[in-house]
Amino acid sequence: MAIEGTYDLIVAGTGFASTFFVHKALAHLPANARVLFLERGQKVSHAQQLDDRGKRLPYHDMYENAAKIDKRWRFNVSVGGGSNCWWACTPRMHPEDFELRSKYKVAVDWPVNYDQLEAYYCEAEDLMEIAGPSDSSPFPRSRPYPQAPHRFTEPDKLLKQATPDKFFAQPCARPSGPTRTGRAVCCASGVCHLCPVDSKFTILNGMGPVFEDPRVTLAVGAHVLSVDLEGGTAKGLVYRDHNGREQRAAGDVVVLGCNALFNPLLLKHSGLDGPQVGKGLVEQVSISGNVLLNGVKNFQGSTSITGHGYWLYNGRHRARHAGALVETWNVPRLRDLRGRWRERLWFKVIFEDLRQDFNEVVPSESDPYKPKAIFKRRSNYAQKGFRAAKTRLERVFSKLPIDEFSLGQRPAASEEHIMGTTVMGSDPASSVVDQHMVHHKVRNLVVAGSGVFPTAAPANPSLTIATLSLWSADKLFGNSAP
Ligand SMILES: Cc1cc2nc3c(=O)[nH]c(=O)nc-3n(C[C@H](O)[C@H](O)[C@H](O)COP(=O)(O)OP(=O)(O)OC[C@H]3O[C@@H](n4cnc5c(N)ncnc54)[C@H](O)[C@@H]3O)c2cc1C
Repeated sequence: MAIEGTYDLIVAGTGFASTFFVHKALAHLPANARVLFLERGQKVSHAQQLDDRGKRLPYHDMYENAAKIDKRWRFNVSVGGGSNCWWACTPRMHPEDFELRSKYKVAVDWPVNYDQLEAYYCEAEDLMEIAGPSDSSPFPRSRPYPQAPHRFTEPDKLLKQATPDKFFAQPCARPSGPTRTGRAVCCASGVCHLCPVDSKFTILNGMGPVFEDPRVTLAVGAHVLSVDLEGGTAKGLVYRDHNGREQRAAGDVVVLGCNALFNPLLLKHSGLDGPQVGKGLVEQVSISGNVLLNGVKNFQGSTSITGHGYWLYNGRHRARHAGALVETWNVPRLRDLRGRWRERLWFKVIFEDLRQDFNEVVPSESDPYKPKAIFKRRSNYAQKGFRAAKTRLERVFSKLPIDEFSLGQRPAASEEHIMGTTVMGSDPASSVVDQHMVHHKVRNLVVAGSGVFPTAAPANPSLTIATLSLWSADKLFGNSAP
């Protein structure tokens, strides 16, 4: 496959950010348009992934972890990126997640709001064939989810009964019924990072038409090094091909979709460094908890994570401390008590965190193309959230017949989300890209993905990553977004 001539669109990476962008761009581009994906990894089919399952993801060598606390970042470098290893939890962000500053005088507002994104959320959910609760949702919806919600467990049913406005079936890209794309129904075996039956949405099993489109070329083993710039315009991308040779690909519009560890480095290597490039590395932080049930048996759900508790999510407490989303799990973690094995509920509380400039990504001294992730500490806002959670959750779970409630003290080392390092905003002095993820100075360069998130709301990010890419591509190629 020869890479030659000028492409209408060149995209680095093939994860959520890149592929959803191209999906929308193709809807607007003419029949003779040319689109090029440059992907550092290889195409690894689901069958091959199953064969290789003993092997670890080759992400360790690709970045330097200089965290000052117990912290790690994981990702997948191959066609489809993190969709190959994600858990497929897909809540939307809540409308007030976009307005923390106006509502609670905390952090900043996003330069885009929920209403502007709502139609694009629907589209992303349709493409991923999300299963979720349409009649009872924590955020406004203009149309139903494409799939019915998953079946609750018995403890979930009791939580719904006790707090109907605060507890919902978890929206997820693990199908509850037959899908348009032929993906299997979720097998509920609880090993979603590598789905045994290829049920959860991945770029490979759900976005095939993008790569099969005759206008699209996919080059694998193409390690993008920088943006080729001339007089403030992106002319294309500089990359190392599979033979290690440095090459250039020319394009009219350039998209970086290499995730929030790599995108800031690509900007720095392109001479597009700035006060916020690489700053503000952030993600949510979780602690887990246990409820020992009394006479209630668990694990009847039809997927791995079945419930979403919004008891600590939105509301006035966010002026003082982080909001949090609670997941109830259906993966059997049994109680250590003969005859009462199933009388246990394991849950996870996911707190938001705030960007802080001293948490950052810089080039590694050993290899400038390798990111060095320096994470010093979480915000006081998140820490205060942990402290406030115990009493409130104990009250919630006491509505169930229980023997014991406990909440862990130690946050997990990772939520597996990488965010904040190419932040979006209206002011070029304090942000890298605008509300459509277009670079403030280079107006034909898009920097996509959760690097642009100005805050790290409790909701998992990938549905919003896909949504922002649809919104951005619609603006750039269709000129229809406001
Ligand atoms: C175990 C695990 C579970 C997760 N579960 C969830 C979940 O349930 N819900 C959720 O919302 N999120 C989840 N995530 C996070 C989710 O995977 C990421 O948010 C998402 O993949 C980010 O999408 P992206 O397209 O921005 O980046 P990525 O998916 O990381 O894609 C980046 C792409 O760029 C390529 N690339 C990287 N560098 C270069 C380069 N220099 N040149 C060319 N190509 C390059 C990569 O190969 C990849 O194709 C999980 C992550 C992990 C690891």
